[in-house]
Amino acid sequence: MIEVGINGYGTIGKRVADAVRAQPDMEVVGVAKTRPNFEAQTAVDKDFELYAAIEDRKPQFAEAGIDLAGDVEELVEESDIVVDACPSGIGADNAEMYRKYDTPALLQGGEDADAVDASFNARSNYDTVEGDDLVRVVSCNTTGLSRLVAPLQEAYGIEKVRTTLVRRGGDPAQSGRGPINDILPNPVSLPSHHGPDVNTIFPDLNIDTLGLKVPATLMHTHSVNVTLESEPDAAEVRSLLEDERRTFVIPEWLGLDGAGAIKELAQDAGRPRADIWENCIWGESISMEGDDLYLFQAIHQESDVVPENVDAIRAVLGEASQEESMARTDEAMGLDT
Ligand code: NAD
Repeated sequence: MIEVGINGYGTIGKRVADAVRAQPDMEVVGVAKTRPNFEAQTAVDKDFELYAAIEDRKPQFAEAGIDLAGDVEELVEESDIVVDACPSGIGADNAEMYRKYDTPALLQGGEDADAVDASFNARSNYDTVEGDDLVRVVSCNTTGLSRLVAPLQEAYGIEKVRTTLVRRGGDPAQSGRGPINDILPNPVSLPSHHGPDVNTIFPDLNIDTLGLKVPATLMHTHSVNVTLESEPDAAEVRSLLEDERRTFVIPEWLGLDGAGAIKELAQDAGRPRADIWENCIWGESISMEGDDLYLFQAIHQESDVVPENVDAIRAVLGEASQEESMARTDEAMGLDT
């Protein structure tokens, strides 16, 4: 069994903890929290061992009646690998602690690419990270774009990608974020950071990205144009994407007209936290104009990186091939349902 520690039990960390626990070859050693709040209580209710991320705050847990199994350093020492899902920047600060205990760690997309040995997307570069000490599972948007680029690149060759990312203002629980009533070019000047971030996975890819922020919390939406090196018809591209793991090509008859309906479907299907781990690509949007491919896809920012973290654990530890790992992850999480 692979013993996994989770440092940072927020939006991403709590989802990764559940996904790791569902795997037949992994066990969660415990999760580290900075303070006793509703997420700490959730961890307790789910029988995860809780470790204190900050020594001075241990009394706060005692006051809240929450038992601790130890300090974060003990968690790191006991784990074969740590998934660090702390807020942006803190993962890089934690790197020294992971090195001290010789425990490999996965950081998340909010960290700088130069803080790690490699950036990771299961579909695109699974085989390149074995034995690395620090690996960054790229952000939700970069994951969504990489899942699209990899098969298109292999099947048709790519001359250029141009994508406009319409980004949610914040996650549903981030009440302080916005905009509340505006549409913001963000950043105003090109490129947005997403293109260079995709280049951490595909160094030679020619890609331009633009970003907007809108008053929404449910999902991001990408308007994608890929100039291909050949001219497949739209039906062929659609079938290619339908055959991929972690891409859900939305059939027209489902009547999913936006993120709200997609989230409703996820709730109806009983998905945990109404998560949508797959890229949601509108089938009827897949169009070819000469060698230009166009499509729209929606990306659930809170969950598409979760199966990627699970695969990154096996990839770093050399525990399974890409296909074995992705299949095992998807089956254990219920990705095909
Ligand atoms: P979050 O704020 O929801 O969760 C972070 C958790 O870490 C919180 O519970 C916080 O209390 C805790 N924490 C803070 N300092 C800590 C410390 N020193 N030690 C241990 N825990 C600490 O953040 P998130 O949205 O889960 O983001 C985590 C990382 O994942 C970031 O790099 C982010 O960029 C990336 N990411 C986020 C999303 C998203 O949409 N939420 C998507 C993909 C990637």
